[in-house]
Amino acid sequence: MKKNRQAGFATRAIHDGQQPDPLTGAVNVPIYLSSTYVQQGIGENKGYEYSRVSNPTRDRLEENLASLEGGVAARVFGSGMAAINAIASMLKSGDHLVCGNDLYGGTQRLFNQVLTGFGLEFSYVDTSDATNVERAIRKNTRMVYVETPTNPLMRLSDLEEISKICRRKKAELVVDNTFMSPYFQQPLALGADMVVHSTTKFLNGHSDGLGGVVVCSKPEQAEMLAFLQKCAGAILSPFECWMVLRGVKTLAARMEIHDRNGRAVADFLARHKKVKKVFYPGLAGHSQDEIAQHDLAKRQMSGFGSMITFETGSLKNANRMLKKLRVCSLGESLGGVETLISHPATMTHAALGEKGRKAIGITDGLVRISVGIEDLQDILDDLEMGLAAI
Ligand SMILES: *Cc1c(COP(=O)(O)O)cnc(C)c1O
Repeated sequence: MKKNRQAGFATRAIHDGQQPDPLTGAVNVPIYLSSTYVQQGIGENKGYEYSRVSNPTRDRLEENLASLEGGVAARVFGSGMAAINAIASMLKSGDHLVCGNDLYGGTQRLFNQVLTGFGLEFSYVDTSDATNVERAIRKNTRMVYVETPTNPLMRLSDLEEISKICRRKKAELVVDNTFMSPYFQQPLALGADMVVHSTTKFLNGHSDGLGGVVVCSKPEQAEMLAFLQKCAGAILSPFECWMVLRGVKTLAARMEIHDRNGRAVADFLARHKKVKKVFYPGLAGHSQDEIAQHDLAKRQMSGFGSMITFETGSLKNANRMLKKLRVCSLGESLGGVETLISHPATMTHAALGEKGRKAIGITDGLVRISVGIEDLQDILDDLEMGLAAI
């Protein structure tokens, strides 16, 4: 390897933070199940005092994820929502946030039903048009909070454009990068100030643990978030840190297959006569808007991923299809090795109400699929069988 060249993504995923245990040579990071640490004398310790404050297994995961997103540091939390709550806790009563209008349902619930009670103010706009963001920014706007692509309609927002607006207006840009993972999209390199993930999804990758991470571009952010870990205690357990460390080792390999299968499934659906519309950043589309979105996808992401939404026409059609599936499992969540399929109107977006869903274009016939890494033909055969029931 040439000197000064940073190691590639897959190498960093396997080695950064995952160096062999100095005591035994164990290839895998040990799980330090200790709440407290013996001190050598008053004020003398080996860098660890109490596991809410810091834990060696957690440190290793934070080092690894900071490297993958290209940040200065990362802080992990007990779930994606705990990570998002920690970000909001960096603000003060009276601060204002500009947010995407179709954020993850749980994020909207936290913002609207909990944090407004503590004096934070939120405006929701369609961030796929950056001028909407600029117009919504006020004197007290401290943060712009964006997901790209969005769930379930896969709308993209131009992170470079929005980050320029944020810099000019002195607001911080926070990006929820859960859908793309750092393998396909690197918001910090595009000018974002912080990145958040539900590690529950692609990073852990096996649907067997919850977690969240905030990756920081500045040391002050990391310090503040470490303080919040200590004060509020919503940390990720050592065992689950280890699960994510194991999961990320195969992130590059998994994402390649997710993307390959995702493209093929999107193509199949787009050509299927029972499918009325397909939402996927990898499809070119025909309208000016669709072409612009696809161009942005090619510019901003290095892959299109495996999240696809499609229109079956009605709730009845969706249900007929879903009941026939055998390989694809009906369930919430995404990003696991198995193909998961969900019905946004009654599952992830039920809380929005019919009116709320209509306002952002979520119909009763929409089905969202998180394409897994099974054999492609088995996924396609399963979908063909399901669609035949419509
Ligand atoms: C799942 C998810 C979250 C919440 O994460 P949890 O780990 O379930 O708390 C936040 N944002 C997005 C985009 C998600 O998909």
